Amino acid sequence: MRPGQKPLLSGRDFVLPELVHHADNGDLSVSVVDSIDEVKLQQIFRLAEQSEEPPPKFEDLPHTEMQLERRRYVDYLKRVPRKEADRIARAEEFAIWQMAGPDAESNFRLWWDRKQTRKKNALMRKANRLANCGMCGRRMDCRDHPDHVFYEEFGCGTRYCRGCGERIFASLFGKYIGLWPTVQPLLPQNGFRSKVVIAALDFTAVNIHRMPKPEEIRVRSVAHGTRYGCLIR
Ligand SMILES: [Zn+2]
Ligand SMILES: [Zn+2]
Repeated sequence: MRPGQKPLLSGRDFVLPELVHHADNGDLSVSVVDSIDEVKLQQIFRLAEQSEEPPPKFEDLPHTEMQLERRRYVDYLKRVPRKEADRIARAEEFAIWQMAGPDAESNFRLWWDRKQTRKKNALMRKANRLANCGMCGRRMDCRDHPDHVFYEEFGCGTRYCRGCGERIFASLFGKYIGLWPTVQPLLPQNGFRSKVVIAALDFTAVNIHRMPKPEEIRVRSVAHGTRYGCLIR
């Protein structure tokens, strides 16, 4: 993209057709073209099915997880919303939390329930995005030849999409490797000690043949710390 140019529209700028839905008998169904491969279809179903599963009960969470959720709630209370009405409501809720009564706990639970609903919906939206990957696109005009018109497909942009995931990884890698010139001058010269410590941590997780859940990452890294190769250079 040239400076001053408007960014091209992406799939996110459009309302995608709902390809994941429920049949009359309540079963999940995905409308896709014949050319879709089995692995992608399985991924779409798994995401959609996960969104159907009953959300976890707060009482069933491990104690550390409960505490973490409370800390997240406090972070949420401390954030200042843009709209004035929301700001006032948030400040009131924070005041109630600080009084630590039954209202504080019930507000916290409402916040947690809302979060679970959002997560559910997000999974369903991701399933739909994945089903839409490469299904629609935009018309592109060639700068050099006015009658040369072609189409570019919209990717879904989800990390586990076999097409988009690789591109996302490559662009993130490119972004962070670009930080090297910033980091290098901070390094001490040979024979000097610096107050700045630059350490590289390599974590290698055991392959569990699926995406680990955030809790699993936290629990494993504490409980099975030795399973991770951690290298400080
Ligand atoms: Zn052309
Ligand atoms: Zn994709």
